Amino acid sequence: QPDGYVVGLIGDGIGRSLTPPMHMVEAARLGLDYDYRIFDLIELGLPADAVGGLLASARDRGYAAMNVTHPCKQLALEIVDELDGDAQRLGAVNLVVFEGGRMTGWNTDWLGYRDGLREGLPDADLGEVVQLGCGGAGAATAYALLSSGAEHLVLSDADADRAGALAERLQALFPAQRVSAVVDVDAPLARCTGVVHATPTGMAHHPGIAVDLDLLARDAWVSEVVYRPLRTELVQRAEAAGRRVLDGGRMAVGQAVSSMEIITGIRADRQRMREHFLAL
Ligand code: NAD
Repeated sequence: QPDGYVVGLIGDGIGRSLTPPMHMVEAARLGLDYDYRIFDLIELGLPADAVGGLLASARDRGYAAMNVTHPCKQLALEIVDELDGDAQRLGAVNLVVFEGGRMTGWNTDWLGYRDGLREGLPDADLGEVVQLGCGGAGAATAYALLSSGAEHLVLSDADADRAGALAERLQALFPAQRVSAVVDVDAPLARCTGVVHATPTGMAHHPGIAVDLDLLARDAWVSEVVYRPLRTELVQRAEAAGRRVLDGGRMAVGQAVSSMEIITGIRADRQRMREHFLAL
C-alpha cells in the first residue's frame, strides 16, 4: 500500500486496549508505514449502531481496515458487503477490510484462539472439551475447538439458553462431531481432556475462579480467555497444580497477528509480538 496503512478499532471502553500498541510496534519492526487509531463509542457518546457510519466514513477516508469489538461484532456482520465464510458461520465480525470501495467482514478471534492453542498447547487432547461461557469470546473458542477437531464439546453458561443455542448452532455446522449443552458441569469436568474458561471471571472488576479445579480430571489441560490480568487465579492455580495451561494472551496476540496478515498480506513474528504483549 503506497500511502501506508491506516487501521482503527471501534468499540465500548477501548481507551486502554492493548491492540493498538501490538499492531503499531510490530508494524514498525516490519518496516511498514502503519497507524492504528481508537474510536471509543463511550468517549464519543455514540450508540453501538453508530458502527455503520464510522465504517463508511473510514472506508471513504482511505482506511485499510477497522477492527470491531464489543458491542458491535454482530452489527458489523449485517453491514459488510462481503463475508468470509468462517465469520458468517460463526456469526460475528471483528475485522472489516476496505478494498475497491467494498467492505469485507472477517473474524480473527477464532483464528487467534486456534493458532494460540496450537502454539501454546501443542498436541492438546481434544477428545472431550468442557467450555464455560458462551458469549462473544466463547463463540469464537468453541468454533476454533471444533475446527481443530474436538470430538465432543460440552458447553455451559450461567445463561443456560445461551449455551443451548450455541450448541445447537455449532452442532449443525459440525455434524460429524458432538456438541452438547449442560447446566451441571461437575460430571463432564471430572472426565474431560481439557477445559476452556470463557467467562469474565478473573478480571480485575470480576475477581474469582469459575472452574472447580478440584473436580477437574487429573490430566486435563486448562485454557483461559481472560488476559487482563494475564495471570488470573485460574491460570495461577492450574499451573501450581502442574497442569498444562494456555493463558488468554495467546488468543489476544493471535487475533492481532491474523488481523495484520489479512490487512497487509504480511505475516507478523508471533513470538516477538507475544514478548511485546507480555511487556505491555
Ligand atoms: P460476554 O458477556 O459476551 O460473555 C460472557 C458469558 O459468560 C455470558 O454468556 C455469561 O452468562 C457467562 N458467565 C458469566 N459468569 C459465568 C459463570 N460463573 N459461569 C458460567 N457462565 C458465566 O463476554 P465476552 O465478550 O465473551 O468476554 C468474556 C471474557 O473474555 C472477558 O474477560 C474478555 O475480556 C475476554 N476476551 C478475551 C479475548 C482474547 O483475545 N483473549 C477476546 C475476547 C474476549
